[in-house]
Amino acid sequence: MNKIVYSIAIIFLFLGNTIKAQSNSDINCPIIPRPVVYQLSSGDFGLVNNELQINTNNLPTEIGFYLKKQLESAFSIKTNLIEDQGVILFKKIKNVPYGTYSINISDNITITYSSEESCFYAVNSLLQLIEKNGRDLIIKKCFINDYPKFEWRGMHLDVSRHFFTTDEVKRYIDLMALYKFNTLHWHLTDDQGWRIEIKQFPKLTEIGACRDSTLIGYLNDSPRKYERKRTEGFYTQEQIKEIVDYASKRYISIVPEIEMPGHSRAALAAYPEFSCTGKQLGVPGLWGQFEDVFCSKPQTIEFIKKILDEVIPLFPSKYIHIGGEEVLQSRWLECSNCTKVIEENKLTGVNELQSFFVKQIETYLTSKGKVLIGRDLNYMNKLSGTSVSMLSKEITSNSNYYKIANDSEYCNFNQIQYKLEKVVVGSFLPLEKVYEFNPIPKNFTNLESAYILGGQANVWTEYISSMFQLEYMVFPRALAMSQVLWCREQKPSFESFKKTLIDYQFPFLYRYKVNYSIAILNPEKVE
Ligand SMILES: [Zn+2]
Repeated sequence: MNKIVYSIAIIFLFLGNTIKAQSNSDINCPIIPRPVVYQLSSGDFGLVNNELQINTNNLPTEIGFYLKKQLESAFSIKTNLIEDQGVILFKKIKNVPYGTYSINISDNITITYSSEESCFYAVNSLLQLIEKNGRDLIIKKCFINDYPKFEWRGMHLDVSRHFFTTDEVKRYIDLMALYKFNTLHWHLTDDQGWRIEIKQFPKLTEIGACRDSTLIGYLNDSPRKYERKRTEGFYTQEQIKEIVDYASKRYISIVPEIEMPGHSRAALAAYPEFSCTGKQLGVPGLWGQFEDVFCSKPQTIEFIKKILDEVIPLFPSKYIHIGGEEVLQSRWLECSNCTKVIEENKLTGVNELQSFFVKQIETYLTSKGKVLIGRDLNYMNKLSGTSVSMLSKEITSNSNYYKIANDSEYCNFNQIQYKLEKVVVGSFLPLEKVYEFNPIPKNFTNLESAYILGGQANVWTEYISSMFQLEYMVFPRALAMSQVLWCREQKPSFESFKKTLIDYQFPFLYRYKVNYSIAILNPEKVE
């Protein structure tokens, strides 16, 4: 049965005769991302005495605990999980599209789901339906049928430029889960800090996780303005396991990023023997692109493989991100070791040396059952065809390799959303623009589109130094991104999205104590 026929069948199967005569897109649905089908009925489901009994039959245990915790902490609803009883009922169904769930709210609440993750999506949708009506909490009677568009619905977090604690990363994961993101791209290493414990190479964190200064003015200021304060931080392997496990209970896969061959100054500060010059350099408080990158000699490749040997078992995700872009080649040009690699492998020069470097890592990751992701790799044809390219510009290539849309114009949440804001990288990215983002180019056929796994927003933290500020930069823009990545059918107009945001989502975020931006309420100041 095709999806449209299925959706229609489900509607008729479940709906009573009380549907209001409104088309789907007219109705202001509280949920973001907007479900495929939302049909409002008459009347409310009231929460008597602010209490809810949840029937645990067919309810995955961890999801039951999650739902209870959310209802109690964000809504102060007394919640009991009881076998064979209760007004929230769960039912597992088969033979529906990936991620499908439905919610039918009448005198009780029936949730059907196809997989544990879709059950989790249903529960998160249910939370967004709870409204205040006077002193009471109610849920408007309705029917929802829903499933996602893209399989990669990502948020990125840079913990190198500024470190975020285990609890802060968990908070970020919690907030992602509310909006059905399923991938955390965790930027664990960069020039400004190495944040993951590697037991064979303890100096990576003893030296590479600390720096003495941080740029606080613009990159082009003269003189540049620094905060002269020592900062440090890294995650032990135990903490990483704890975070990965925490995320998996929220159906979020964590993709670690270990940057190479560029953006490696923190690693080289710890082990300068793996650079081209061998010179001892510090961990920079400045950002940008640096000339010192990993040398391409075999000893460096072995060093990286040993690091990956410790990274791989920590992350069940099939993907490992290696960055791979912004590699200055000046040191390679002057390096006798790099010249030797070029000659011995009959390479045409440093460009081919870069693809040769990445190819060796790809082969290694493949042998360990992992898939390489790189950013803007312009030599995908030199790789095996299984690797994935994350593209920071508009996708134009329809070549047969997998892609993740990450156009920096729409996806970099380190840009300002309000003209009066402080120093940032990049320029102006208002909510409307994020909402316009479309991972699939207009002229792509269905077959070409199938190579686009999805998209993600990036949170680069050069100038984001606290969780409070991070939340401000991410919300509500993450809601626009979640809509873009989830909505299979045409998404509602921006005006409709904005109304949902103001009527339902700002109060919802408030319940979760999120420090969201209200720039959208002052549009005249945004221009
Ligand atoms: Zn070299």
